[in-house]
Amino acid sequence: MNTRSTLVDRAHADKRLAALLKQAPIEFARAVYGINDYASGRTDTMAAREVVRAQRQGMPLTEERAEQRARAYLPTVGQEHCPRCWVVYGHKTPLRFREADEERPEVAACQICGAEYATSSD
Ligand SMILES: [Zn+2]
Repeated sequence: MNTRSTLVDRAHADKRLAALLKQAPIEFARAVYGINDYASGRTDTMAAREVVRAQRQGMPLTEERAEQRARAYLPTVGQEHCPRCWVVYGHKTPLRFREADEERPEVAACQICGAEYATSSD
C-alpha cells in the first residue's frame, strides 16, 4: 500500500518540510486568535476551543509560549510532526501523508487535532 511513500525522494521530502515550516507562523496567528476569542468570551470558535483544551491539559496557552514554539518548530524528514499540536499543546504528533490524486494535492494529516496541510504544491 505504502510502497511509494517509503520511497519518497529527497526533493519531495524537502518540499514537505518547507510546506510545513510555513505553517508554524500561521498556527501561531491562529493561536493568538484563539487566545483573544477566549479572553473576550467567544469560547465557541475552533481556535478558542483549543485554548480551553490546552488549559485542561495543564499547559495554558499564552501568546509568548505559542510564539516561542512556532519559532522552534523544526520538522525533519521521516519525523514530520503536526505544527498545530506543537504550537498549541507542545506535543510532537506525527503527521500522516496522504498522497495526491487527481482531485487533490498531497496532504499531511494529524490524527490528534484534525489539522490537514497541503504539502505538495508551491
Ligand atoms: Zn495536530
